[in-house]
Amino acid sequence: MSLAVMQKDGLHVEGVALTEVAARFGTPCYVYSRAALTAAYAAYRDALQAHGLADRSLICYAVKANSNLAILNVFARLGAGFDIVSGGELARVIAAGGAADKVVFSGVGKSRVEMRAALEAGIHCFNVESASELAQLSEVAGSVGRRAPVSLRVNPDVDARTHPYISTGLKSAKFGVAFGEAFDLYRRAAALPHIAVKGIDCHIGSQLLDPAPAAEAADKVLALVDRLAAAGIALEHIDLGGGMGIQYRADEPAPTASAYLAPMLAKLEGRREQLVFEPGRSLVGNAGLLLTHVAVLKPGEEKHFAVVDAAMNDLMRPALYDAWHEIVPVSATKVGAGGTAVDTPMNYEIVGPVCESGDFLGHDRVLTLNEGDLLAILSAGAYGMAMASNYNSRPRAAEVMIDGNDIHLIRRREMVPELFALESVLP
Ligand SMILES: *Cc1c(COP(=O)(O)O)cnc(C)c1O
Repeated sequence: MSLAVMQKDGLHVEGVALTEVAARFGTPCYVYSRAALTAAYAAYRDALQAHGLADRSLICYAVKANSNLAILNVFARLGAGFDIVSGGELARVIAAGGAADKVVFSGVGKSRVEMRAALEAGIHCFNVESASELAQLSEVAGSVGRRAPVSLRVNPDVDARTHPYISTGLKSAKFGVAFGEAFDLYRRAAALPHIAVKGIDCHIGSQLLDPAPAAEAADKVLALVDRLAAAGIALEHIDLGGGMGIQYRADEPAPTASAYLAPMLAKLEGRREQLVFEPGRSLVGNAGLLLTHVAVLKPGEEKHFAVVDAAMNDLMRPALYDAWHEIVPVSATKVGAGGTAVDTPMNYEIVGPVCESGDFLGHDRVLTLNEGDLLAILSAGAYGMAMASNYNSRPRAAEVMIDGNDIHLIRRREMVPELFALESVLP
């Protein structure tokens, strides 16, 4: 939320005016701050340090939240590992300079091709989500003459109390091995020749603001670790997933990393296992914003619409989850068409040009707007560009990263011919 700071010439990110970014790279454009990425990582690390756990912890950034190579590279330089969910993400991590031996591989449907690639790269661990996956992984590992390092992702049946689409820890979810079946599956895994049992994993959901469910999940996981140890299966690491929520609205009481993690970390002090965490959103969400211009103002009888040049294909969260993003003007002063100051706030629906009624970026926003105004849609660093599509044959936005006074283009805007370059017509 605090990424952009208002100065006389409008909003700045670090030392750069957002009007300059828009002038150089056009809109829509995602803007990230290296300092904000670094600070979010440091907050996580410091929370672990406060419990004496930093030295034996591995923070694996969840790549799916934002997979741009420059973002991955910033985290790789800070010493992070990575949580991946596909072979494509593994290739990105390696291309960005990430260390394969700090990668954990999650996901319910890993293909054999992806398993082989990850084995050959030498990843830290597979987070296995079912008995069938375990059997397939053992076969693939045998065929390449390796033993696959494995955690079982257990489903602790804890209600994360978040949006149903991003709640993953209930019995009814497709994720993980049912808690009651995990012990037996560990025994079978330990007997498989091409499987090396290494750890345990759980991830109960995303955008969690209350620390209690994660602490409750940790309790259940630790009890299972101790039961396994008593049965002769000693685990080397405990992976407690990601999911820490961020502040999207100024009036939303989001916890700091240290407050959110404290109840869970208190349970881990004094243990000997390596600890793995998989934060995604909390490392990038508030380090990015989406810049957009007001294209058309359309006053109506019931509602006033502000049509902007960003749309649901650029930022899908409002349409997908009814998510709320703060939308703020970039310029400090308002000047109307005739050069006169315009200062009549109105209640707007902020919508994109896509042909869907679900294409909105914000409802009921009281703003003073003119056509051509530049707006910043805040907290857009996570699950923004990563979920972007070419729906309506719209080229995907440019992405820039600000580092002090420097602006780096980290993904150029797509060009229209690229959108159909892979297609062909019938002979
Ligand atoms: C998405 C995901 C994460 C990251 O979740 P955030 O809410 O972005 O922190 C971590 N682990 C797994 C297995 C995931 O699927």
